[in-house]
Amino acid sequence: MKKILISILSILALSAMCAFAASSEIEIGEPEVQMGKEAAAETAKTIKVVADEAVNKRVKTIGEKLAKVANETEIKAFYGTAEVVPFEYSFTVIEDKEVNAYSLPGGFIYVHTGLIDFVQSDDELAGVLAHEVTHAAHHHMVYLLKQQEKVSNVTTAAMLAAMLLGGGSDSTSNLILGMQLFQIAKVNGYGMNAERDADYAAIDYMIKAGYNPVGLLTFLERLAKDIEFVDYGIYRNHPIDAERVASAKRIITEKGIDINRRQTTKAICAEVKTEGGKSTVTLQGSAIYVTAAEDKANATAKVINELLDAKVKAHEIKLDGSGGVFAKGKTIANVTDEDAKLMGDTKANAAKNIQTAIKNVLFSQMLETMH
Ligand SMILES: [Zn+2]
Repeated sequence: MKKILISILSILALSAMCAFAASSEIEIGEPEVQMGKEAAAETAKTIKVVADEAVNKRVKTIGEKLAKVANETEIKAFYGTAEVVPFEYSFTVIEDKEVNAYSLPGGFIYVHTGLIDFVQSDDELAGVLAHEVTHAAHHHMVYLLKQQEKVSNVTTAAMLAAMLLGGGSDSTSNLILGMQLFQIAKVNGYGMNAERDADYAAIDYMIKAGYNPVGLLTFLERLAKDIEFVDYGIYRNHPIDAERVASAKRIITEKGIDINRRQTTKAICAEVKTEGGKSTVTLQGSAIYVTAAEDKANATAKVINELLDAKVKAHEIKLDGSGGVFAKGKTIANVTDEDAKLMGDTKANAAKNIQTAIKNVLFSQMLETMH
């Protein structure tokens, strides 16, 4: 990070040192929006915006809910400044296979298609967007530049401010500035303390916007786990350390929120499909129970999911021999003669099939946790 800023400095020093009077005030609000606009204009020249309307709409819908919260609610900042300055947030999806997202000052937020493919739920996507919203809402770039100014005798921030407040008369310098800000935000992130602050505040923004903050946790966990094995491009430079994962987990727990990873990931889930007067419960894509009573099918799926969440053991799933399937004092299904007829089987066999299907899920999950 420092290296980049020093290199900005040297470029600026060469190109603009004599051109501007130093004014060391980069303030939050209009100047930072201007700074973001410059960088966004440069970014626009180098990116390919995704054409898929559904993808754009998904990101925009989630992003705008979070932006609304950020524009109305002050959340404590551990890095940067919490002061609320309403921004006109924009969310742009870029055609790029690298798993990445970044934000520029003033609320210009970018998400790669690689990240969209990586997330397993809207909650996970909301976690990423809330993190990026925080970088803008907590004015991380302004803070970073001010910090940089403190440690550097040569006033980097003053140079940048002079250019920004000077009204952009020198287009070459503005172009350099825009590109450099873009590089900082995209490649280097904002530094570890800023990353932690963005995780903390993201959890609050998510809760207030109606998303499950466990989505941020499962995203970080999977990224931390996979990053050693898969080349996720830009995230090589954003190590998701164990501490970041642990603190997200701690904060969510402190808020009294249940950590149920099944709800924010593509973990195996029993589902119900109703058509032609028949409701079918599926598990891992296979039909395991068919009944004319939709409420019975819904109850079966619900109980199966609860049992999977409760880490039911295979031997706990019991049959009564006449169509009943039970576990942990709950009824999974009670196969009736009519149900059995729909499935073309006996009651006892149909019940046994349900038991086997759940055992198969437990077995595959056990294999998954072994490597
Ligand atoms: Zn970040």
